[in-house]
Amino acid sequence: MITVRVPAKVNVQLGVGGLRADGFHDLANVFFAVALGDEVTASAGEGVTLTCSGPDAAVVPLDDSNLAARAARLLAAHHGIADPGVHLHIDKAIPVAGGMAGGSADGAAALVACDALWQLDTPHETLLELAAELGSDVPFALVGGVALGRGRGEILEPLPVEGTFHWVFAVADGGLSTPAVFRECDRLREEAGTGSGDTDVATPDPDPALLAALAEGDAVALAAALANDLQPAAVSLRPSLAATLRAGTEAGALGALVSGSGPTCAFLAKDADAAAAVARALRASGTCRTAHATYGPVPGAAAV
Ligand code: ATP
Repeated sequence: MITVRVPAKVNVQLGVGGLRADGFHDLANVFFAVALGDEVTASAGEGVTLTCSGPDAAVVPLDDSNLAARAARLLAAHHGIADPGVHLHIDKAIPVAGGMAGGSADGAAALVACDALWQLDTPHETLLELAAELGSDVPFALVGGVALGRGRGEILEPLPVEGTFHWVFAVADGGLSTPAVFRECDRLREEAGTGSGDTDVATPDPDPALLAALAEGDAVALAAALANDLQPAAVSLRPSLAATLRAGTEAGALGALVSGSGPTCAFLAKDADAAAAVARALRASGTCRTAHATYGPVPGAAAV
């Protein structure tokens, strides 16, 4: 039996370029791995079976669409294993459809867990290629830390980072569909008259001020540089997020943004005590289902 712990991510910068002919957007995506994470346990089984525990377990699909099951089958197929046997249990703390790449995290964790259970010793480079096949956010969950993702987000470059940053995540009731948020981003750009195609919107670049703040461990500067081009779209689809962002900021957060495609909101705090206070204030504010104080960066998927 192998248990793998895997982090959620927050995008400290999510620059969204125009809509490409293949339906994807070019991104300047600075991923940051946080200690709020899932645990995936792989044990011997027949076929690929799944169970899930945790507050959101009821909304996690337990069929072959689950990214953990898809990861197990993809790894098996890569090694020519015709009839893979594994039971995967997901202990889920990452909010589902929350913009924190929880499904992708479970996919990455399942790759690592099945690789160990089946004693395959797959090279890390190969695991990264299989991860990119599963989805744009899966490779980062293998790598962790802080990384720049280009292309759809799957081409990763680790970034230097100093020290620990303290975060609070406000979890909303119900999720947002990532494709729907990208469509709303395109729609808002059309409405504003800027156009939404890749000839209208410049390919985004990472913000030098944000990269410097990470490298220097400067939470105040990082807070000032937090940026998410999907935030207007997420707030447009879920207007109540404006009140959540305001509640965390009024409680003393240094900075706030929607995490990825939302609806989870992320707040940067000065230190662990400030993060605990912001989380308490958010829970009391009635603007979210719950709030968690956590920290990062932390490493990617690894056996515990
Ligand atoms: P991202 O930030 O990468 O856009 P997300 O965090 O918003 O993703 P996920 O939690 O990954 O969203 O879930 C999106 C959908 O994926 C869910 O609604 C669910 O149907 C499906 N899904 C597949 N596998 C999983 C999994 N292991 N855990 C949660 N959802 C999963």
